[in-house]
Amino acid sequence: MAIDYDAHIDESLASLHGEGRYRVFTDLARCAGRFPRALNHSTTPPSEITVWCSNDYLGMGQNPHVMDAMKTAIDTLGTGAGGTRNISGTHHHIVELENELSDLHNKEAALIFTSGYVSNEATISTLAKLLPDCLLLSDELNHASMIEGVRQSGCTKLIWRHNDVEHLESLLRDADPDRAKIILFESVYSMDGDIAPIKEICDLAEKYNALTYIDEVHAVGMYGNRGGGIADRDNLMERIDIIEGTLAKAIGVMGGYITAKKNLVDAIRSFASGFIFTTSLPPTIAAGAIESIRILKQSNALRAKHQERAAYLKQALEDADMPILHSKTHIVPLMVGDPVLCKQASDRLLSKHNIYIQPINYPTVPRGTERLRITPTPLHTDEMMLELVEAVKEVWDHLNISRDISATAPVSAAR
Ligand SMILES: *Cc1c(COP(=O)(O)O)cnc(C)c1O
Repeated sequence: MAIDYDAHIDESLASLHGEGRYRVFTDLARCAGRFPRALNHSTTPPSEITVWCSNDYLGMGQNPHVMDAMKTAIDTLGTGAGGTRNISGTHHHIVELENELSDLHNKEAALIFTSGYVSNEATISTLAKLLPDCLLLSDELNHASMIEGVRQSGCTKLIWRHNDVEHLESLLRDADPDRAKIILFESVYSMDGDIAPIKEICDLAEKYNALTYIDEVHAVGMYGNRGGGIADRDNLMERIDIIEGTLAKAIGVMGGYITAKKNLVDAIRSFASGFIFTTSLPPTIAAGAIESIRILKQSNALRAKHQERAAYLKQALEDADMPILHSKTHIVPLMVGDPVLCKQASDRLLSKHNIYIQPINYPTVPRGTERLRITPTPLHTDEMMLELVEAVKEVWDHLNISRDISATAPVSAAR
């Protein structure tokens, strides 16, 4: 019988609906100058809402200096890049941005990609393939883009239990001492908001002669005296071989990068398909990123405010007896533990309270640990926070969601 294409496609979608984890996008228009407010175009007429789940962690996406830098770049250079880096796409702004980033992380060189996802996938797969019989040691909660890089390399991988350095060491101890090894991990894990034991991992890397690769996507701009991330804050940048980051979260624009020694960056530049065969980041975007990074290098004021706001919100939710994970970072996970309830809670917050927090379900987080992931920014006021707490209380009562955190706590809570 001839294959029924539609039946297969529809069946795959039906399985998502069945599990209550079909993804519905919220159609928003952000309002520059009024962050974190936005218009919700999912209703007619559009309703004004407060966004509580943006990864524009510091509101730099609407910073007037960043906006001006991008407008000026458009007026002087036009819009797109016009080519790959190899074929007329190496614009001066991109070169400048790479210098800005290698300076930020105290490394010899940097390389820009079109996204953080691509930077992880391309760098991990390429580097591992360049080394003989490379063994990849990956934290179990690493981001999908790192997992994809590992998979594409075709190299042997070993998964170590999340942030468990004893487990990591047992894997390193069992491996051939002469074999090439790369330890892959993140600094801030974005779903639980916990932080890797970076120093201990670097100690092990030294002891067992492994390279270290860190994803600082959720820390760049927000931690460290100049915004270089957790490794910057803890004076560990020089002990890490490859630091990867994004320009799309706290920097407020778009694009990804790695920073490392000159020869390593040169090798990725020369061999990574995901770098070579795609049009470079537009210089207009690079201009915005440069301005944003420079602003964040100069002052800790926004970082301090960010931490103060996160602490305030955590305290307010805790005082209201809401089940939050106690992260040491700016990320505030409010645990639900069920995909259907999680989606219903999010829907009710939006329709009844004009508060937008996207539900986070499997596979982004393990089943049973579904949550609303709240990201307070320096621009969320006391008033917005108290409004949020009241709304969340009403929704939890209305849907009869448990306030007992123990049932839904993820693996990071145990370590
Ligand atoms: C968002 C994210 C990325 C991808 O960055 P983009 O610039 O959005 O592609 C990589 N790693 C982690 C941990 C992320 O959360």
